[in-house]
Amino acid sequence: MGEPDGPEGRLRRFATIWSRAVFPVTSTSLTRVEFEAQLLPLARRLSEALRARNHTADEARAVGAALVAAHCTDPEALTRTLDCIDAYLVLYCGGDGPQEDLRARSSRLQHAMAAGYAQALRERTLAEQESIAQAALAAQGVVAQALHASEARFRAVFEGAAIGISIADLEGNILQVNGALSRMFGGAEQNLRSRNVTEWTHPEDAPQVWRLYEELVRGEREHYHVEKAFYRPDGTVLWTNLTVSLLRDADGNPQYQLALMEDTTERRLLNLRLRYEATHDALTGLPNRTLFFERLEKALNGAEGQRFGLCYLDLDGFKTINDSLGHAAGDRLLVEVADRLQACATAPGEMVARLGGDEFVALTTGPDTEREVDELAARIMNALLAPVRIDGRELTVRGSIGVVEGPAGERGPAEVLRSADITMYRAKSAGGNRFELADEEADARAITRHGLTTALPTALERGEFFIEYQPLVHLGDGSVRGAEALVRWLHPQHGVLGPDRFIPLAEHTGLIVPLGRWVLEESVRQARVWRERHSDTGPMRINVNLSPCQLSHPGLVQDTVEILERTGVRPDALCLEVTESALIGADDDLLKPLRRLAEMGVDIALDDFGTGYSNLANLRRLPVSVLKLDRSFTQSMQQFPADPVDLKIVEGIVTLAHSLDLTVTVEGVETGAQAEQLRILGCDTAQGWYYARPGPPDRLHELALVDATA
Ligand code: C2E
Ligand code: CA
Ligand code: CA
Repeated sequence: MGEPDGPEGRLRRFATIWSRAVFPVTSTSLTRVEFEAQLLPLARRLSEALRARNHTADEARAVGAALVAAHCTDPEALTRTLDCIDAYLVLYCGGDGPQEDLRARSSRLQHAMAAGYAQALRERTLAEQESIAQAALAAQGVVAQALHASEARFRAVFEGAAIGISIADLEGNILQVNGALSRMFGGAEQNLRSRNVTEWTHPEDAPQVWRLYEELVRGEREHYHVEKAFYRPDGTVLWTNLTVSLLRDADGNPQYQLALMEDTTERRLLNLRLRYEATHDALTGLPNRTLFFERLEKALNGAEGQRFGLCYLDLDGFKTINDSLGHAAGDRLLVEVADRLQACATAPGEMVARLGGDEFVALTTGPDTEREVDELAARIMNALLAPVRIDGRELTVRGSIGVVEGPAGERGPAEVLRSADITMYRAKSAGGNRFELADEEADARAITRHGLTTALPTALERGEFFIEYQPLVHLGDGSVRGAEALVRWLHPQHGVLGPDRFIPLAEHTGLIVPLGRWVLEESVRQARVWRERHSDTGPMRINVNLSPCQLSHPGLVQDTVEILERTGVRPDALCLEVTESALIGADDDLLKPLRRLAEMGVDIALDDFGTGYSNLANLRRLPVSVLKLDRSFTQSMQQFPADPVDLKIVEGIVTLAHSLDLTVTVEGVETGAQAEQLRILGCDTAQGWYYARPGPPDRLHELALVDATA
């Protein structure tokens, strides 16, 4: 026995609640306590499935089947089980995992479990049908004999049967019905006995039902088996598995017909309900992803001339609402949004579904969706305008919509949904609260971006990255003082990709940390090679770019120290470049690693200076020793004469930087005139195409040597 508060205790508590809920509706011969003992291992499997990474659906399906095996075959037993899991499983068995994940997994478990339950029930029904058919054959013999032999024995077989039995003559006049059958029809035996079988038509009768009947009464077939509905005297519908057999007299002439029927009404309702549950979202009641895909697939398979239009909606900032007001409020918001969306798509051919989380879709089909889908998107945006009241607060709801429209027969559902998803993200990154139309070119770009993102990790393993070096030149004497390392990706399909194509993706996925470490190691090692091979040109410094993610990564200082020690390069030969924007508003925690590095002697450069509007007075606070003036300053010096205001600004920055003991480097120097101008303004070093484009490491010394001999 576990501690009452421990995981085992909580699991038992869950099993108790579950068994209390379900026991009253089971047809088991066990006591409640014995029944609970039977549920405990099932509860354990659910609990483990809730926290497991894989195969949870299989487990849940197996538990559903086990419930059927434990005689929980009443539809109410499943309902109560699902309610119980919904309310208590995460609470008692979730551990301290993230609630949102657990809830999502719990609802997936419920679906899988209901599916497993339904399937087991179906299999059991088939088995039962089989045995009923057997019983019918047996009964045929027994009844026939009984009819001939003794009325008393016949009565016993007839009345004792658990399934409904009736006997009619070959004209269809009902002669006998047993208790089970009259109970199925609502109790009154007299009402049944005066009836004729042929009156029992029902609109849902399958076409073959009456053909089989005719064949039987003509003596052309011995028995038949169908699923058939009947009206009860009170007008309600009874569904049955019906087996009808022909009874012959001692000479073998057709004499009576014997019907055996099993009531399947409840089971049908359960199946309908399971189908409903498997295709609808429990929270909002909207169709779910499964049903939506079915409909979309149908729309996309539509006849010629048919079109479809799809609006893919994702709420803006829903996570914030959920995190700050709690799940209950978030749920209510989703329900309200679902209701409003539902009201936007009421025409025939239109539907709204919830795909999960705060993602919804609206679908319209027909010949005119080109016009309709725009109107649908506009209606949705409009429906979200009014704030939602929750707990006395007015919450503003905004959403981004990706719209895809097109003819049936060209694309599959997955492709259409992906396009809608990409378009929705475009609407989001354009600021949200808007809808955008899918555009193949934009899709293609996004897909390439996606492809690059997924290829990044292996690219690092496969050594597809390489570094080019761009010299840093002293403006006073023109000597090469070092180089900036600029990373490139030699992509197997796309050729050489510049950092602007993949650094943002690497930052987004976190790969920037190992990639940045590799660049640092590789370029520091390169600096060491230069030092060994070219002791004549003086020490070469190496500048390496750091992205903001690396800055906040806890391993930064240690990695850098290790790399320097391993390569034997002195800290003051290394300069780490950090963009101005990464340091704006940086607090002391973020600056601490940089400060540590600066104390060791590593230079820190403020990259792209002048683009981030940082407060010049703030520079004093930062552990920075180099300012890299952004290329835009250099560009404004291209025309002649240069704008005097720009010149004054640069002059001011240089003066201030020098008074703070900072070195000034300028980027993007493309002409000799610019270089001269910047030298006059007092800049210390320069970098740009005028000196050299970024290139392989050995080119650096060619330049340095040319320079030294000039
Ligand atoms: P950045 O640090 O501002 O690097 C200078 C960029 O200006 C380089 O572009 C360089 O090729 C380009 N450039 C140099 N001289 C001239 C010139 O005279 N005219 C013009 N128009 N451009 C010039 P690149 O190599 O495409 O790098 C772009 C940015 O990618 C870099 O900007 C840097 O922020 C980032 N980056 C490059 N390598 C790395 C890296 O290893 N790690 C990180 N985190 N970022 C990197
Ligand atoms: Ca840089
Ligand atoms: Ca720069």
